Amino acid sequence: MYWKSLGHMRIKCELCPHLCIIENGKLGKCQARVNHGGILYTLSYGKVVSYAYDPIEKKPLAHFHPDSTIFSIGTSKCNLTCSFCQNHSLVSFDGNVRTTSPKEIVTLAKQNGSIGIAYTYNEPTIWYEYMLETCKLAKTEGLINVMVTNGYINSAPMIELLPWLDAMNIDLKGTINSFYQDICGGTLQPVKETISLCSKSTHVEVTMLLIDSLNTNWTDFERTCKWLADLNSNLPLHISRYFPAHQLTIPKTRLETLTIAREIAQKYLKNVHIGNAFI
Ligand code: SF4
Repeated sequence: MYWKSLGHMRIKCELCPHLCIIENGKLGKCQARVNHGGILYTLSYGKVVSYAYDPIEKKPLAHFHPDSTIFSIGTSKCNLTCSFCQNHSLVSFDGNVRTTSPKEIVTLAKQNGSIGIAYTYNEPTIWYEYMLETCKLAKTEGLINVMVTNGYINSAPMIELLPWLDAMNIDLKGTINSFYQDICGGTLQPVKETISLCSKSTHVEVTMLLIDSLNTNWTDFERTCKWLADLNSNLPLHISRYFPAHQLTIPKTRLETLTIAREIAQKYLKNVHIGNAFI
């Protein structure tokens, strides 16, 4: 879905803001979509690499069906390349797994007290077709759908998916474009557009993972909190603690940083939570 032919077996993928131009036989940046003979194929359809029955607070969602359990699934690969990726072992997984049908996922999602399905762990945008099909089937069975995303998706596919979603957690990884470009391999504006678009029609909570000295400029942070509050001052914000992971060896975020951030955010937003830390 969401691609077009450029002729001579070249393809433009229009699923995410990278808008990859893909030659025959080559992969897109996400490594999850391939051009075979001028047709774009998804490689991750049904490839469930990780699953668990998680507390919904772990997504994190703090203001949506509290104390409930949700069946959570993810595949491998991603359309961003964050040097601090906290799930890199999953994202880089290259092994073979069997294809799990949407029907099997829905059956599993009705067990163990689960209220629905969370598309999470890696970036669910890159298995868009599978997520959309599973969302639709889950709805017919009375289940809820939650997308945990980096928000790096174009508005047309997001608009098609939105009616099937009940809640989202969207990462806002940094407050300035250069952070996205230098550290995440993307750009800021599309993520802000996703937050703005989705918060108008479904329950959205936002997560900001703070890394001392990298994305803790308090002027930028405060401007971003004000922007979120202008969208909806009830929008829950999760300020999350970074721990060294993947390529980034900067020490874990100081607890003091998180409390300063919370004080600033609470000037604008009514629901501010600190995550990954016991304070
Ligand atoms: S979804 Fe993958 S192939 Fe498509 S534009 Fe994004 S990174 Fe490129």
